[in-house]
Amino acid sequence: MSTINIPPSSTTVQVSIIDTTLDANIPTAPFMGPPIAGFENLQLIDYAFLVTHKDPATDKERRILFDLGCPKNPQKDLSPSTNEIIKSFGGYVKIEKNVPEILTEGGVELGSVEAIVWSHTHFDHVGRPSLFPASTSLLVGPGVKTSYFPGYPANEASPVLSREFEGREVHELDFSTADLEIGTLKALDYFGDGSFYLLSAPGHAVGHMNALARTTEDSFIYFAGDSFHHASELRPHDGYGASLPSSLKLPGLSCPCSAFHAIHPVKNHSKLPDHYRKYYDQVPNDPNNVPFHTLSETESGETMAVDLAAARDTIKAVQKFDSDPRIFVIAAHDTTLYDILEHFPKSANAWKEKGWKEEGYWLFLRDLGRAVEVAGRD
Ligand SMILES: [Zn+2]
Repeated sequence: MSTINIPPSSTTVQVSIIDTTLDANIPTAPFMGPPIAGFENLQLIDYAFLVTHKDPATDKERRILFDLGCPKNPQKDLSPSTNEIIKSFGGYVKIEKNVPEILTEGGVELGSVEAIVWSHTHFDHVGRPSLFPASTSLLVGPGVKTSYFPGYPANEASPVLSREFEGREVHELDFSTADLEIGTLKALDYFGDGSFYLLSAPGHAVGHMNALARTTEDSFIYFAGDSFHHASELRPHDGYGASLPSSLKLPGLSCPCSAFHAIHPVKNHSKLPDHYRKYYDQVPNDPNNVPFHTLSETESGETMAVDLAAARDTIKAVQKFDSDPRIFVIAAHDTTLYDILEHFPKSANAWKEKGWKEEGYWLFLRDLGRAVEVAGRD
């Protein structure tokens, strides 16, 4: 079991996990590969995070949001090119509420939110900042302004509409001068007291960020954004005492885990598409210590990531956090954790006492159950 070096602090933040009401079912192929027969579609929900900091001396509260989910009405609230991308996925994408509605219903005044942090500018994370008062600022990762501002329609290629940040302070964060590194990621200490860090987690999209929230003096929640979409891209790995266990008994999942070796790419090396072989040639030939998927690429080298090598390195970095028993890793779209989590307006701070990490760690294997059956029929 390994731990990573996090500067000590006794100041914490309150974390509340917001179910942003996205219900989507889309193909796995653009996200992860090599393809595993029987796991063609991905059921996606979408989390945002409310982070509340209380000054220990004055009790003054400060609030920020990490991501805002998808706008409720994509046709009206996203650019035409973004709507084309959504259509091109196939499947379906439904959203019931905008995050500001959810916050208001939960008793949070929108004016109390000092900043919105976009993990990145994809449609299912940007939400509608314009529904917040102008006093709420927007924080974006490196390169976002250069790439996408002033937004659509002035910048045709921009996934975000100009009106979503007009009249609001927008800060682009600069990690290049950050002297703090946590794990292998550059870090900025947002409140200046070790309670909440923004982390540069490049590769998936321009300026992609993760975050680390201190939930007790010695426990943390790691917001992985879209660094991975399904935990089969992250696990198994050789941390958290956590190669694939020999047997499992979890709700809806009871197996000798060796059954999953049948679908693992390292056990199917000869059947791998050529363009994945290069990647699998340099990982250990061990299905207990290598994730079931890597990030997707096509034969001609197309990939959803803006920088595939960096995105794969970021996954390695997230594995280090995942290996640390003090840290609960949650990606924006991890549907497998949905029933375990307590959502906004409840707090997630007692995750360790409640055993969320142990309970949820291998649940993603349920999604691969049909793939094991399919492999058994071959
Ligand atoms: Zn996303």
